[in-house]
Formats: sequence, C-alpha cells, structure tokens
Amino acid sequence: MLWVAIIGLVMTGVALALAGRRVAFLYKLATSGQPAPERIEYAKENVGTEIKTQLVEVFGQKKLLKWTPSGTAHFFVMWAFFILATVYVEAYGALIQGAITDTPDFHIPLIGTWPVLGFLQDFIAVAALVGLIAFAAIRFKNSPKKLGRDSRFSGSHLGGAWLVLFMIFNVIWTMFLFRGAAINTGNFPYASGAFASELTAKILPTSELLEEIGLLLHIGVMLVFLIIVVNSKHLHIFTAPLNVLFSRRPDGLGAAQEMRSGGKVLDFEEADPDVDVFGRGKITDTSWKGFLDFYTCTECGRCQSQCPAWNTGKPLSPKMLIIDQRDYAFQVAPYLLAGEEQKDSHPQDVLALLEKPLVGEDGVIHPDVLWSCTNCGACVEQCPVDIEHIDHILDMRRYQVMIESSFPSEAGVMLKNLENKGNPWGMPEMKRAEWIEELDFEVPIIDETMPEDVEYLFWVGCAGALEDRAKKTTKAVAELLHIAGVKFGVLGPMEACTGDPARRLGMEFLFNMLAQQNIETLNEAGVKKIVATCPHCFNTLANEYPQLGGTYEVVHHTQLLAHLVEEGRLTPITPIEEKITYHDPCFLGRHNKVYAQPRDIMAKVPGVQAQEMHRCKDRGFCCGAGGARMWMEERIGKRINTERVDEALTTDPDTVSTACPFCLVMLGDAINEKKNSGEAKETLEVVDVAQLLIKSVKGEPVAG
Ligand code: SF4
Ligand code: SF4
Repeated sequence: MLWVAIIGLVMTGVALALAGRRVAFLYKLATSGQPAPERIEYAKENVGTEIKTQLVEVFGQKKLLKWTPSGTAHFFVMWAFFILATVYVEAYGALIQGAITDTPDFHIPLIGTWPVLGFLQDFIAVAALVGLIAFAAIRFKNSPKKLGRDSRFSGSHLGGAWLVLFMIFNVIWTMFLFRGAAINTGNFPYASGAFASELTAKILPTSELLEEIGLLLHIGVMLVFLIIVVNSKHLHIFTAPLNVLFSRRPDGLGAAQEMRSGGKVLDFEEADPDVDVFGRGKITDTSWKGFLDFYTCTECGRCQSQCPAWNTGKPLSPKMLIIDQRDYAFQVAPYLLAGEEQKDSHPQDVLALLEKPLVGEDGVIHPDVLWSCTNCGACVEQCPVDIEHIDHILDMRRYQVMIESSFPSEAGVMLKNLENKGNPWGMPEMKRAEWIEELDFEVPIIDETMPEDVEYLFWVGCAGALEDRAKKTTKAVAELLHIAGVKFGVLGPMEACTGDPARRLGMEFLFNMLAQQNIETLNEAGVKKIVATCPHCFNTLANEYPQLGGTYEVVHHTQLLAHLVEEGRLTPITPIEEKITYHDPCFLGRHNKVYAQPRDIMAKVPGVQAQEMHRCKDRGFCCGAGGARMWMEERIGKRINTERVDEALTTDPDTVSTACPFCLVMLGDAINEKKNSGEAKETLEVVDVAQLLIKSVKGEPVAG
C-alpha cells in the first residue's frame, strides 16, 4: 500500500499548492479594493444574528428552497458536500493506515463504525445523484438555445456548469467503487447501513488492487474538483457563507448603502473628488465585499429571471452586471496586482484594457444597463447567496452623476427642481398645503413645535401634495385618520422632498442636503412618530435618515390604517362588489416587507374579491418608477408599466389597487393607454387601498 499512499499524498500536495496559489490571488485581488470595515464590525457586534442567518440561509437553504425543484436538488447536493467530507476523512485514513500497517481498515474514532453514519453517507450520495439528474433536466428544460433570452441561464458560462455536474458525478461513482471494493476485501468500517455500497460490492470482484485504484480515483477526482472549484463559478461553495456573513442586514434592501471612501462615510463638507473615491469609476474602486459578490455569483440567473428591466427587453441583467465586472476584474487582475512600477512594461492592448472605464459606451458596463435599473430589489431578494446588486448599481451611478455628470438628460430637470424648489416638479412650496383646503376639517400645519396632543406627523410627500391622482390618496388618508380620531399634523410648505429620487439617481450630495434640511425641521419640531403614504418617503425616513442622525418611528399609511381597522376605530361597512387585484409597491413590499396590511385592509372591505396576480408579494413586478426611473424616458423595450398592467388584466379586474403614489401614476398611465386601445374596460381604474377603505367607511363618494 506504500505506493498508493505516496501517489495519493503527492497528488494532494500538488493540488493543494495549486489551489492555495489561486486562493492567495483571490484574496490579494479582493483586498486591493476599497475597505469595508462596517461589514466586519456589524458581523462582530451581531454574532447571534449572523449565526442564525448562516443556519437559515446557508445550512437551511431558505432562499433556494423557494424555487422548489432546483432548491431541493441543491439542498441535497450541498449537504452531500458536508456529509461526504467524512468519507474523505475515511479515504485519507485508509491511505495512511494502509501505508503503515498494510491493512487499510481505518475508521473515524468514536462514530466511524456506527451504521447510521454509513447509511447517511450512502443516502446523501444517492440523493445527490438524483439531484444531479434534476439539475441536468432543469438545464435542458431552460436551455438558452431553446428559450433564448427567457432562459435564466442565458449569458451564463454553461460549459463550466456542466463540468461541475460531471465532477460531482465522478465523486459519487468513485466513492461507491472504493467503498464496494473495501467491503469485499473486509476493510469497510460499517457492518450494515451502507446500502448502496453493499449493492455495489455485489457486482464487483474481490480485489485489493481494485480497492486501491478506487481509493486513488476517489481522492484524485476530489483534488481535480478542488482546482476547478477555485477557478470557476463554483467558488461559491467556499465564498457563499462569507458573502452571507458580510451582507448588509437585514437583506441588502431598504436603505441605500452610505457613500464611503477609504472605508469612511464621506463627509460632503470636506470631501475632495481628487482625493476621495466618489462611487465607482474603475474596478479598483470596488470594495472587498464587492469582489466577494463577484466571486460568489453562481450564475444561476434567478435575479435575471425576476428583473423587470430584463423582462421587458432592456439590456440590464443583474446577473450579467456581476459576471461582466468579475470577468473584467479577472482579466486585468494580473496587471493590477503587478503594481504601478510594472506599468511601463505592459503591452499597448493591456494598457488599453486597464484604461477601460467601468461604465461607458466602450466600458465594462454599458450606460443603458446602468440606467435601466428601477432599484426594485427583485434581484437582491432572490439571490440565494446575498449578492447586493443595488449597491453596485448605486455606486456606479454616483460616479457617473457626481464626477462625470453623465446621466439621462431628462433627469437633470428633476435634479434642478429638487435643488431649487425642494420637489421634483419645480412647483412653488406654498402649493404643498393646497390639498388641505379641499377638506371639510382642519389639518394643523406644524410650523414650529408639534403640539402635545398631536400624535403623528403626516409626511405627505411631493407626489401626495402636488400630483392630482396622488392627492386623492392624501385626502383619503387624512379623512380616515380624522374619522378614527388620530391627531396628526403636516409640515406643509416646510416639507421638502426626502431626497429619494436624488439618492437613487446617484446624486448623493443633493440627497444629503435635502435630508439634513428635513431632519433639522423634524428635530426642531420634536417629531417622534411619522405616517407616510409614499413608500419611497417611508423607506427614506425610516431606513436612511438614521444614517444622518434622524431617527423616528415611521409607519406606512397601510400599516396604520390596518391597525385602526383592527382596533375597530375604522369600520368599513358599505360593500364594494368588485374584483380587485393588488399591486405590491417595491419599496413597501420587498424593501420593507409590508405585504400583509394592504391585503388585510382589502379583506375587511365587504364585497371585495381579491385576486392575486401571478407575480405578487416578494416576487411582485415593479411599476417602472423606482430608482429615479420616474424621471427618465423609457426608450428601450416594452414599457414596464404596460407589462404590469397586462399581467393585471389577466385577472379581469374591476379595479387595480396599490399603496404608492408612483405606482398609482405609472399603472394609471398604462391603464389609460389600454382603454384607448380597447384592451381594458372603460370603468377600470387604479386606486390606493386608502381610497377603497374611505369609500367603504363613508359609504359615499370621496372628495376628488
Ligand atoms: S433592482 Fe430591479 S431593476 Fe434593478 S437590477 Fe435588480 S431586479 Fe433589475
Ligand atoms: S447574482 Fe445571485 S441570483 Fe444572480 S446569478 Fe448570481 S448567484 Fe444567481
């Protein structure tokens, strides 16, 4: 057996050296990027949460199991990696013991002859084999050759995926060869339990040579697989737990990531674009967490399959956004890591590659890709390894907007209006209180301090105050709060845009300015509790203002109204006999997990027949307005709002309901087009859930 051990150990040494060199390269590349100390600090301070997340997401495969067939197959294949590690302990034990005693009957101390372990090893190997067949079937069924762009694998490196499936298959059959042969030679540690190995033994001859070949093959396959893994997308086997560990909590959604340079949050009063990093203009501006995202992408395409931009024919695929950056990073890494002093010796084509902008017509990422994103979060929500696409997109937008001044020109008008008038439409600030005059009760405007008996500040939002359709929601909410006896006030002309459109466009400087101005107003007024109708305002106030020192208890109007209905302070009595389908606003649903309350309200209105669209809740399809897209032309592909309304029409609704002023406008526009073309009935309308509720509570037409 000595020759077997020598071959086995030499193979292991060579493979470990090759894999180690690759790991060192990956580490060096990632740490050549920007620091991200906040990720490490958070993980250190929240050990309990992180352990729970690892258990649920990595070991429990929570996100993957939502995709039932492929998730179940992955569950077994992943657990095979853990459980079959014990077979490799046995294989190396046999290798070494065989060299020392010439009898390779090694068993793991304490548990190594326990039939349950033998059974578990065989069971998981067989389950993984079934998993491989399922993977192959899924890949055939979803082949890009068959489905083209509709395949979630389109654009992925397909050859690498098949190679990995083949290698896992090799691990399994060599395991049974080695174990079956060991049973026949009497060297197998389990007297019973290993059912599949026992079956294999029956068809194999008794041969020590066969056992030795089986052992070497089993070890050799694993070593080749190791080298393939560290050089391929299957690197996620090792990096996924790390990426999950260092992802933003709770899930990379909600608040936009703060802008950092050198690991520190950028202070715009002192920031210098010549010294500080403003977003990401080149690959080296990526933080090590960004590189970890690149290393971890499995190219599964779940993000791509959910992306509203991709699904309406735009060039943005969140998967390709990550893969393209990763491929470029790997292409330039040897030269980047060689250092500045080596630069002069690089050939011209390498220099040109190094000069390539991260975003540009000839860049790594095309501007149409960057500006197609609605920040809807569908990609982040579905990614099984917690890749944070929106963080990548926002950082690239920040560089484009603040350093290059390069962004869709239409959005420039919105920025100017925000800067000069504090709202995206450039309306005079006094107009913000005009809706109040249309009510038949008083709404106090807070100009200094919140009176003691006023519980909530009603954050009306720019659309809620200035856009005619959204104003209906504002008035409905105000009336409902009034009926329920909730004391509230508004800021009126003192309210300015929260800054969400500026931030999502990448104009962090303007966001900071508006946010600080609002925080000052809110703090001076002593505001503690806020109710907002706009999910974008809600998200910014609740999740982003704390980054700048503004911490309040913020609720969305659907949360407050559902609570008031539950408490019996609002009673919907008049039936609304309609089929209604609810559209989840992305910044309320995915970004803030408010799925139940709008539906609860609808369920309490007598007569309402709620119909879910196919894409709903965490898989809800965007209306197309988020990520500042509301202020950009949609020139490529099908309009996202049209796609959403087409889906709504499949439920044959009398009304489409939602809970966001932007969704209201986007879906309303698409419905009007459908009415003009005769594809939708004339009576079809889109309303906020609050409008439904007031109609039922008051039992009379609502002031329009
Ligand atoms: S946030 Fe939405 S639009 Fe943007 S890449 Fe992700 S899925 Fe696509
Ligand atoms: S980013 Fe996530 S969801 Fe998208 S392909 Fe990569 S691993 Fe899959």
